[in-house]
Amino acid sequence: METRYPITPTWRDVRRAIELAKHDDLRIVGQATINGVRVFAIPSRSQQGTVHLPYVDAVAQRVICDCPGFQYRGVCAHTMVVTRHLVNEAQGVISAMRGQPAPTLNVPLGG
Ligand SMILES: [Zn+2]
Repeated sequence: METRYPITPTWRDVRRAIELAKHDDLRIVGQATINGVRVFAIPSRSQQGTVHLPYVDAVAQRVICDCPGFQYRGVCAHTMVVTRHLVNEAQGVISAMRGQPAPTLNVPLGG
């Protein structure tokens, strides 16, 4: 199935997705890495007992979701929950690196 969704969501839709995620207190209830792709399970807002499965598309460098809202707007509450999780994860890595020597660059920086 070919997936079509807006490449660039509007900021209005992004803000609304964040508000909905907060309002419904959406949380990640499961996650797995399948063929190198990180997939998350987040409860559906409209259908009790079902989950949506946003995943990290490393090539597109974005989080993709299977819900109707994402197909229509290119963003949804589920992708915002996963994005927040990934940001927190990255912050944890940065915190862990504090106080340690910077990693050696093997590739010369152009300039
Ligand atoms: Zn979604």
